[in-house]
Amino acid sequence: MSQGEQSETPGDESPILCARCLRLLKPGRGEFFVVQIEAVADPSPPDLDWYEEHNHDSTRRSYEELVEQLKDVSEQEAKDQVFRRLEISLCNDCFSTWFENPAGNRDGDDVDNREI
Ligand SMILES: [Zn+2]
Repeated sequence: MSQGEQSETPGDESPILCARCLRLLKPGRGEFFVVQIEAVADPSPPDLDWYEEHNHDSTRRSYEELVEQLKDVSEQEAKDQVFRRLEISLCNDCFSTWFENPAGNRDGDDVDNREI
């Protein structure tokens, strides 16, 4: 067929693919969503009562060990343990499917309006 349009986007970086169905996504056409996921490890202050119950006298030592271990871990690795960031592209179809159940529950129904 016609091959006249193949040099339409020269110099483009790597193509954007849907993270789910691997469909090729073309920018500027409203064909996809960019999903930015930020995950932060439990940001609450430590539950000292719980630590006392579960670790007893080892709490202090394990904290010192943790500090010791962190000296060997690179700054980036340490950050990765508490903060993760991910960016994926999803075509419109995959996005609507994913958005209905972003946590991937096996039974996608009744999660939000579960009655006690
Ligand atoms: Zn897709």
